[in-house]
Amino acid sequence: MNGVAAAVPAAPSDSAAGTAAATVDFSRNGATREMPSVDTYKNALLTNFVYPESQEKMRTALREVRARFGQKYPLVIDGREVWTDKLLPSLNPSAPDQIVGFVAEAGIPEAESAAKAARRAFQTWGRTPFEERCQLLERVAAILDRRRFELSAVEVFEVGKAWAEADGDIREAMDFCLFYAYQMRLRGNPRLTQHVPGEESYQHHWPRGVALVIAPWNFPLAILCGMVTAALVTGNTVIMKPAEPSAVLGALLMEIFEEAGVPPGVLNCLHGRGSVIGAYLVDHPDVEMIAFTGSREVGLRIWESAGKTRPGQRELKRVVCEMGGKNAIIVDSDADLDETIVDTIYSAFGYQGQKCSACSRLIVLEENYERVMQRLLAAAASLRVGNPEDPGITVGPVIDETAYRRIQEIVERGKTEATLAFQATHIPEKGYFIPPTIFTGVKPEMTLSQCEIFGPVLSVLKARDLDDAIRIANDTDYALTAGFFSRSPANIERIKAELVAGNVYVNRSCTGAVVGRHPFGGFKMSGGGTKAGDGDYLLNFLVPRVVTENIMRHGFAPEATPEYRAEFLWPPR
Ligand code: NAD
Repeated sequence: MNGVAAAVPAAPSDSAAGTAAATVDFSRNGATREMPSVDTYKNALLTNFVYPESQEKMRTALREVRARFGQKYPLVIDGREVWTDKLLPSLNPSAPDQIVGFVAEAGIPEAESAAKAARRAFQTWGRTPFEERCQLLERVAAILDRRRFELSAVEVFEVGKAWAEADGDIREAMDFCLFYAYQMRLRGNPRLTQHVPGEESYQHHWPRGVALVIAPWNFPLAILCGMVTAALVTGNTVIMKPAEPSAVLGALLMEIFEEAGVPPGVLNCLHGRGSVIGAYLVDHPDVEMIAFTGSREVGLRIWESAGKTRPGQRELKRVVCEMGGKNAIIVDSDADLDETIVDTIYSAFGYQGQKCSACSRLIVLEENYERVMQRLLAAAASLRVGNPEDPGITVGPVIDETAYRRIQEIVERGKTEATLAFQATHIPEKGYFIPPTIFTGVKPEMTLSQCEIFGPVLSVLKARDLDDAIRIANDTDYALTAGFFSRSPANIERIKAELVAGNVYVNRSCTGAVVGRHPFGGFKMSGGGTKAGDGDYLLNFLVPRVVTENIMRHGFAPEATPEYRAEFLWPPR
């Protein structure tokens, strides 16, 4: 979702861990916030590459992964490896002549078999106690942890992540497993709605059925794993479709689920063209829900297509749809520039700007403009662009040739609309490297201000005052992340209320959401308003039911067995 968290002060949930319920006055805006009454979830740890032993483990992993370049990975349908006559290569974006691995390409027949297998497996998995499903996720997290350096190394090669970014993605995948298991245990049992004499009403949930998971490549394990684990722990069976550029990582995740003991058919892995198998399965009558993360273009197509009812379809399809952003950071006239510049550079250029949460518009108040720009341009010059196998690299390649050409075109067009204020000069000749680029003199209506670029390009806009800055920030189709740097409590409160974004960050970077602490996701054209990494996210994968019984004596005999009484928990076969 977001990558490595920048160093931030402990969140309220951390400091409240283990304390009794308390209500903290959030008096400035009259709101209160509830502190959790039980221990909060404790996140998995990040690897600290400052230590020589961590560096050594990573170097060894990079060597070992390189030695197995070119390995072939199958589709997995109903617990069986499936090979087709087509193999898709997955390339190293730092050196596109290197093939990280090949995956078997699925066509319509394989998509059809996966849908059938997932439907069959649902009969059992949907009725498996949630505790068993939680334990599966915990075993997956343990394997991710055991293999984390290997998986990080694959991320360096397959999607061009710097070491810490790659490690952050594995950590987030582990967090999704552990957090959703934790949340499922909190929510798995039926809940008595009210105490009233003579009647019992229990609210509980059934799984939806078969979930199609369609993932992007930019958080190749975390986002894929997050959507898959949410679907599985709630009792759905899954067809997972990793993105083409990160297919090897998708295949490795499948391998990990198999090692963890996922039953045949419960998780099926299809590689191939989203526009072919993805589109086919979105419309399939055996697919009850789609969990999608990716571009606005594809997301809107899925949203529309899933809204049409087709012959044989049993349910209204539920779509979880997380899309792009055009995220802004506003710099107030009294902002602490030491903090502002470091966090803005990280938000804009971390993972080459290829995070949905990345800052792509910097809105600076006129009064402060010259000071901010001087510091920003000096800091940008310190970015090191190159092959992320080298631990000192901060900016690696963009994902593939299509992205490379598209971003180059946007930069060329930008040069005709705005002022090119900075462009890095030392970049490798080979590979899909785009130099970090900063435009000034950008106006709100320009393409640079309105279109998601998804690369290392930052547009700077000047605002007359805070009103103007807020208006510019909110003037896009998207509402994903936004940031604000200020030392004015009054302005901070205004921003909290007025910035239109799913995740608003004050005095810190606008990327790096942590599972459970920063439930993540946007609205408007950034998404359907659901939050990944939140307990409520699981509700998307469930159908709520209430069973009400008049419990005044009716002279029934004999007493129902506990097994029979538990039956209403499960969907019918
Ligand atoms: P993409 O939309 O090109 O592809 C995403 C997935 O959709 C891939 O698996 C692809 O194969 C599949 N797909 C393509 N066409 C399809 C079709 N017609 N039917 C069904 N599936 C289809 O996106 P991408 O390039 O992989 O990812 C980058 C985008 O994802 C950016 O816009 C980024 O902002 C967004 N993103 C959003 C979030 C979030 O949480 N909001 C997180 C990460 C990435």
